[in-house]
Amino acid sequence: MTILMDKIYVGGNWQQTKEKFTNLNPTDGSIWAEVADADIEATENAIKKANSAFKDWSKISFNARAHYLLKIADEFEKRKDDLVSAIKSEAGGSHGKAMFESGYIPKLFRSAASQNYQPIGEIMPSDYGKISMAIRKPIGVVTVISPWNFPVLLSARGLAFPLAMGNTVVLKPSEETPFTGGIIFAEIFEAAGVPDGVLNVITCSKNNVGKVGDILIEHPHIKGISFTGSTPVGRMIAAKAGAHLKKCCVELGGKDPLIICEDADIEKAALAANFGSFFHQGQVCMSVEKILVHEQVFEKFLDNFKRRASKLKLGSPNESEQNSIGPIINDNQLMKIKSQLDDAISKGAKIELGGKIEGRFIEPTILTNISSDMKIYDEETFGPIVIILPFRNDEEAINLANDSQYGLSSGVFTNNEERGFNIANSLETGMCHVNCSSINDEPHIPFGGSKSSGLGRHGGRWSTETFTETRWVTLDRGKRPFPPAF
Ligand code: NAD
Repeated sequence: MTILMDKIYVGGNWQQTKEKFTNLNPTDGSIWAEVADADIEATENAIKKANSAFKDWSKISFNARAHYLLKIADEFEKRKDDLVSAIKSEAGGSHGKAMFESGYIPKLFRSAASQNYQPIGEIMPSDYGKISMAIRKPIGVVTVISPWNFPVLLSARGLAFPLAMGNTVVLKPSEETPFTGGIIFAEIFEAAGVPDGVLNVITCSKNNVGKVGDILIEHPHIKGISFTGSTPVGRMIAAKAGAHLKKCCVELGGKDPLIICEDADIEKAALAANFGSFFHQGQVCMSVEKILVHEQVFEKFLDNFKRRASKLKLGSPNESEQNSIGPIINDNQLMKIKSQLDDAISKGAKIELGGKIEGRFIEPTILTNISSDMKIYDEETFGPIVIILPFRNDEEAINLANDSQYGLSSGVFTNNEERGFNIANSLETGMCHVNCSSINDEPHIPFGGSKSSGLGRHGGRWSTETFTETRWVTLDRGKRPFPPAF
């Protein structure tokens, strides 16, 4: 049955748009929903409502704002079953992925609520005996643009902390996930009684996103942008935000390396590689995409990894909770992944496991015999295909890991903690995990990438820094001298 989502949520009201677009179920290509396609006028209206709501929302007590965020967390808990079902049907997530993502959201809002109780400034020394303060203030309306791969989590991460600080938000989810990335937030904020205009949700089609996106960045009421998505789009958004001198945090693509030293626990490393490469069929920004294995343990690791990966079940998330490899989100992504695979094979890559594509489903695929002229060596794959390369010493492993335009996350396996930290400190990634996979997240940590993987940090006090403005305010007590001429 097709779901009708023909309204956007603006200023606390549900408004029908002139046009609609269709959203497909990635498993079978059937129409999942008819969705409101916001135009320029509707977008400007949403921004105006967010701007009007800012005055009161930024002034209410921190305690009251925390209270709303806690209520939102409770409402998300109540809607867990709806979310799990929609993550499977709208976004092609497996049961395990849907359970993880829906379970994470209440934690994230509770963490944002606690952020309200953190200090928002500093007292500085003054040569003149002044009370000299650095104070953080909310900036105003923040645009949140999110991708489809973790639609609930990434919309929530983008908006929870800016809201906690007293900003208001216009949220635009991906056209692939208008419900899980957007409309469910409107329903939950309404149910939690959050004041009108604090969160506005607009959905729009791929055809309209260029025009709508420009307004969401360039409109004078917009003071900050939280973007999560691909590197080309993020680069363009950061450039536009820069031209308008707006604060911007862009979390982008990755090609995350996992380094496995010869002294590593191979069982644990293979488990981390299997999860890191194939969780959500590799459609995670922090997916393990490049595994570097010391030549002494290359075969041992490969055997173990293949044994684990060959047991992963492929199939519709709605058919069985045991299916851990679901569909690729759309045909464009599928073709991009296929072209990397074809290119690698034509240049001599060896398929150690998998390699078959049926409909939107790609088998977990492991490739060896990789060379740097293959597209898959540096392009983000964002699918269930991983490459493995051998190394002889730590220096070579670090060079291979850093030989990438990206720098999001990474992992290192070794039984020598000092060696692990030394390698971690040499990797050009925003995040690194010793004895774990590159896929790691918690609500309060500084999440973000280096190089082409992004700019700025999300999470906890790092979000606070991004989405507030620091002001210097002083109080003089008569000790500040002025020149005698005055
Ligand atoms: P995308 O860049 O195509 O789209 C992301 C969002 O930007 C969507 O909401 C889309 O509608 C919007 N958008 C597209 N064109 C726009 C424009 N001209 N103006 C304004 N908005 C526009 O990315 P995607 O395919 O949705 O997501 C996959 C990508 O996201 C991958 O590269 C992945 O690595 C990355 N990602 C990064 C992180 C992170 O935290 N670093 C997390 C998840 C996904």
